[in-house]
Amino acid sequence: MFNPQDNGGESTITLEAAVAALDPIVALLSLIHITGDRQLLNHYGPLLEGTQDQKRAAFVDFGGREQKQADPAVVADIREMLVREVKRGGEPLMRDPDPALFREMLKLALGQELPEASIEPTRQHGGFVIDTRIRKQEALPPADFKVLVIGAGMHGINAAIKLKQAGFAYTVLESRHEIGGTWSVNRYPGAAVDTTSILYSYSFDPNPSWTKFYPMKDEFLDYLERVADKHRIGPNIHLNTSMTVAGWDEARQLWTVKAVRDGQEVSYEANAIILSVGVLSRPRWPNVEGMDTFDGPVLHSAAWDESVDLAGKRVAVIGTGCSGVQLTRALSEVASHVTTVQRQPDYIIPNPQALAPVPELERWAMENIPYVTQWSRTQALASQMMDMRGMMSFDKEWNEKTGGFGPLNDAITKMSLDYLASHFPDDPEMVRKLTPPYPLYAKRPILDCGYYDALKKPHVDLVEGELAAFEKDAIVLRDGTRINCDAVALATGFHLDWYSSMDFIGRSGKTLNETFTPYPFAYEGMTVPDFPNFFITHGPNCNLTANACVIGEQQVHYIVEMLQTMVDEDIAAVEPDVEATRAYNEWTQEKLYDTAWYRKGAAHGYYRHDDSGRIVIATPRHNSTIWHVTRAPKMEDFVVTKRPDAIPRAPRAMETLSI
Ligand code: NAP
Repeated sequence: MFNPQDNGGESTITLEAAVAALDPIVALLSLIHITGDRQLLNHYGPLLEGTQDQKRAAFVDFGGREQKQADPAVVADIREMLVREVKRGGEPLMRDPDPALFREMLKLALGQELPEASIEPTRQHGGFVIDTRIRKQEALPPADFKVLVIGAGMHGINAAIKLKQAGFAYTVLESRHEIGGTWSVNRYPGAAVDTTSILYSYSFDPNPSWTKFYPMKDEFLDYLERVADKHRIGPNIHLNTSMTVAGWDEARQLWTVKAVRDGQEVSYEANAIILSVGVLSRPRWPNVEGMDTFDGPVLHSAAWDESVDLAGKRVAVIGTGCSGVQLTRALSEVASHVTTVQRQPDYIIPNPQALAPVPELERWAMENIPYVTQWSRTQALASQMMDMRGMMSFDKEWNEKTGGFGPLNDAITKMSLDYLASHFPDDPEMVRKLTPPYPLYAKRPILDCGYYDALKKPHVDLVEGELAAFEKDAIVLRDGTRINCDAVALATGFHLDWYSSMDFIGRSGKTLNETFTPYPFAYEGMTVPDFPNFFITHGPNCNLTANACVIGEQQVHYIVEMLQTMVDEDIAAVEPDVEATRAYNEWTQEKLYDTAWYRKGAAHGYYRHDDSGRIVIATPRHNSTIWHVTRAPKMEDFVVTKRPDAIPRAPRAMETLSI
């Protein structure tokens, strides 16, 4: 029996209305899942070809294809069937379409074929494959094999869920009073996720109920809380617990860990550690004179005091990165005057959905019609699964032909600069101020959240310069410009911090901080020689190109595969081979050499290591490549120590049974 999700009794939406508003292609795909009838694709698929919706998401409105209108009789047929089948109720007969069928369904959903390398990654990250484990478990993880996860942000929660599913004993240490990591820390007005919500969520727990296409921080935190609660991992998360030091005990082949909770030292032991702490956590306070002489509040985006009311105040915002742009927009709605200080402009990408609510009918359809959420997610994911040639990588051939950077990079640059010009058609000075003097992607492009519109308000000014000093009632810029203000909002970013508040002491006695001096490195971004059974999520050279959620889930998958390998093969300790680590990092840096992160022109920013200039954040790999290389660990690249006490397991024979 069809039982629509309870929306607090307020919704008057009917199934018929939601289906009428649904993309007919998504309706057909849902119908195939519900009925298990693949002939529907053969029959209706060709009739809907060319009618694919042009997505409204950011980054994809260039080179748009023409959209044909679907035959109304065909659409009516599909809608009628879908209403009937949803009303009939029951579990969908086809959850995870087999690969060949998925390929065809995908082609119809997108109106084009994805590269072969992206089909399986899309099947998983679209949300069709819930359990990604590929290793056939030979033994259950022993009860005394303990895994300690450090950090309960997005990746730490992910690790906890997957460890639990795989049967590992695990504990998560979280220094804050709640889970959520960066989304718990960054409390500034306007703080929002700038990856579309349907993607910035776990593929194994897609959320049909986002109220916005780009949720504000609290909605994202609520989602994380719900997922943690659903998977019942709460009791294993030790909040207010700051890990301080961990040392590898070579004799016992485990980590001994110390932490502080409520001022008291607490101890743990773990066979393996998963470090899921972000590197953008230490606020960068500008090193300028007189901050303590300023009469009003000085707030940093990452250390915001929510009790301070900025309504009616003259506020100076310092910085125009993602946080500064979001702050400027939000403060322009409450402050009497906002002066945003820009040291270097950023590329702003149009994003028509930035502040838009998800229409009620669309949300209702995702909540109540099977697989609408997964297919909407898949459509949003598609642009990241295409070939991205010439987006971050410099394309020499293209450059010789056009003088540009690369086809995609140039297309997005044009889109961004056209967008800028369209906002200030009569103001060449604003266009000059806001035009970045470096190639796109040398800094993170920013999705517009209403920033340009905010800058056009009469009480908002954009001033070029660098903060140099504070006075009693003003800030002073490097060129002497004085800006009177009642409050200062610092959106000056973070120090790249590779876990400096914690000490990990490796096999040789050297710490991770020492090992990461002068710069951090890891094998596949996750493991470090001399640190056995130690895994990092979102470690060195793992970011930027690929979707953070894709990377995070893949890394957790890889780590769980490795831990299960240890269990199955009686391995006490694994650490990456020094030579394999060197080769991997050399390859990575070489590949990065030809990207916008290296060929950065005049760009500032935190992507490069402060001292060495080496690129330490970015990966040169495509989303799909990451999926393929993290399917299973290459054990030949690891140094393995077997458990001395292991009792050899006899292979499980399949005997013939008698009657
Ligand atoms: P950020 O990108 O490092 O930007 C810092 C800004 O402060 C830059 O504009 C910088 O100018 C400016 N600045 C620093 N010191 C200054 C000074 N003395 N005077 C004037 N300007 C100064 O920091 P963020 O905006 O906090 O972003 C950090 C990371 O978090 C980024 O990866 C960002 O994308 C991410 N983030 C994501 C979201 C999201 O929605 N997902 C939201 C917020 C942040 P220069 O450019 O000249 O260095």
